[in-house]
Amino acid sequence: MILEERALPPFQKNGYVLGCERTREGVVIDPGDEVDGLLEEVARHRLSITHILLTHAHLDHVTGVKRARAALGAPVWLHAGDLPLYGAVVEQGRMLGFAVEAQPAPDRLYEPAQLLTFGDYEVRVHHTPGHCPGGVCLQVGRRGEAGRQLFVGDTLFAGSIGRTDLPGGDYDTLMRSIRDVLLAFPDDAEVYSGHGPATTIGEERRTNPFLTGEA
Ligand SMILES: [Zn+2]
Ligand SMILES: [Zn+2]
Repeated sequence: MILEERALPPFQKNGYVLGCERTREGVVIDPGDEVDGLLEEVARHRLSITHILLTHAHLDHVTGVKRARAALGAPVWLHAGDLPLYGAVVEQGRMLGFAVEAQPAPDRLYEPAQLLTFGDYEVRVHHTPGHCPGGVCLQVGRRGEAGRQLFVGDTLFAGSIGRTDLPGGDYDTLMRSIRDVLLAFPDDAEVYSGHGPATTIGEERRTNPFLTGEA
């Protein structure tokens, strides 16, 4: 699978481009300020993007949606739980001191057990609230196989967990999502977070102080 990642200051939020090396279909995950870099990767790999997938609607994950949607002509997907946050992206920016443009409404809302495909690959969508009400984990793998690549948004990071002090955040809900959804994946499942380096479920199970009880 083609996997490209870009991030830019100030948020250093990871945006991702995934692609099928055979069919050249692909998806874009969380286009933010680094959207031009993501579009460069789409062009460099000659990908046709079938879906724009959002892990959640905090402003750092959505500021590039308008540009990505216009450039790629692909539907934008979001979990319904984050529609209020998404609709308030301009206010989110104002609270943090950034001038942010309103973004086009999502085209589609994830259904329970949502399954999407690009070429020979599939994306299974798991609801993981806690960091915000509509957070999801995108489980990616070859069609018909148990995907081992997890795009977790801001639910889990290498050595840390998502913050829960923002509107709609809840610590107990976040921990339940991590335990019941993310830690149910095998140790070799790769974790691609919204910020910072990639990790694995096994590494976090063993060493993440928030999961080992040391935090
Ligand atoms: Zn977030
Ligand atoms: Zn973020």
